[in-house]
Amino acid sequence: MNIIKRNILLNPGPATTTNSVKYAQIVPDICPREKEFVSVMKQIRRDLLRIVHADVNEYTSVLFCGSGTINMDICLNSLLPKNKKVLIINNGAYSQRAVEICKYYGLPFINLKLSIKNIPNLCIIEKKLKENPDIYIVYTTHHETGSGLLNPIKDIGKLVHKYNAIFVVDTTSSFAMIPIDIKKDNIDFCMASSQKGLMAMTGLSFLIGKKTLIEKSKNYPTRSYYCNLYLQYEYFEKTGQMHFTPPVQTIYAAKQALKEYFDEGEKNKYERHKRVFDLISYNLKRLGFESFIKEENQSKLVFSAITPNDKNWNFNKIHDYCYKNGFTIYPGKIPKLNTFRVCSLGAIDIEDIKNFFVVFNKALKKYKISVPIKYKG
Ligand SMILES: *Cc1c(COP(=O)(O)O)cnc(C)c1O
Repeated sequence: MNIIKRNILLNPGPATTTNSVKYAQIVPDICPREKEFVSVMKQIRRDLLRIVHADVNEYTSVLFCGSGTINMDICLNSLLPKNKKVLIINNGAYSQRAVEICKYYGLPFINLKLSIKNIPNLCIIEKKLKENPDIYIVYTTHHETGSGLLNPIKDIGKLVHKYNAIFVVDTTSSFAMIPIDIKKDNIDFCMASSQKGLMAMTGLSFLIGKKTLIEKSKNYPTRSYYCNLYLQYEYFEKTGQMHFTPPVQTIYAAKQALKEYFDEGEKNKYERHKRVFDLISYNLKRLGFESFIKEENQSKLVFSAITPNDKNWNFNKIHDYCYKNGFTIYPGKIPKLNTFRVCSLGAIDIEDIKNFFVVFNKALKKYKISVPIKYKG
């Protein structure tokens, strides 16, 4: 069955998938309004709750057709009552995207811009909450994929609830990789899409959140038609279906990926991503590369390596050499600093990283990059 070339994606998603997930998309044609398809979606919605240990009576999951950014858009535009504000704890590129979304919708927001290198100081967040009792949504990113920084969501969420706000967390690049317990982690809404932690195909995104809060949002200002949370939730509750056409084949792949997630197990999968990361980190450091994020703040899913000060260094050339040999590395996303990323998402393990470094070392040699890497002079 192994007729599809296996590429190793070391970019931060979409991730390498298994053959069984790839083939799960090949199904007889079906109209998604059939009961058979509705039952597939029902199972997926339940499984997604299980991943974050959410009680089905208290939480629900709502599916959307789109990439991960659609979730950010939906949460921000759908969950804000009149005369209330959003507080964005902004320490990376993805929280910055949430700022852009607020701007596009003309939502009142506070952009709490913090160092992108470190986890936030809770006192600063508390001060903002205290000074602004009209904050209703506090928004942050669990794992800032641009840098590899992991935010302490549980502690932030505790503060958020102390000030009676709701906590919306972008877990797109941690969901189904880093264990999350929605209640214990003080999350009201989290989100992801199927091509990252789930190791499935692009095109399916989902939100998991508190039913009571979604129901309360029924009478909030409606700011989008296609991307309204209450509308999609209500349709799912009534019919078990998406309001508009779902990504049918992508959903079959997600069904298979969820089965494989539970077969591997939360803990085993987390351990696997960590050992893959540790080997990436070990090898890059041995070559002299420095990480942008300190070890204790690392998600262990994205290694942001600082680009060497070497006249021969050219990321595109190194990338292309690796790509031709079946490995994809990714440019960095840190403002005013040249970095590149090597990530541990996807259906990969130690052996793949060993093979990658054989290729990567050849690329360094071919393009005459001096090793160990130099940062000065
Ligand atoms: C990937 C990602 C998204 C969504 O990006 P898309 O390109 O729309 O899929 C959102 N937030 C985070 C933290 C991500 O890593």
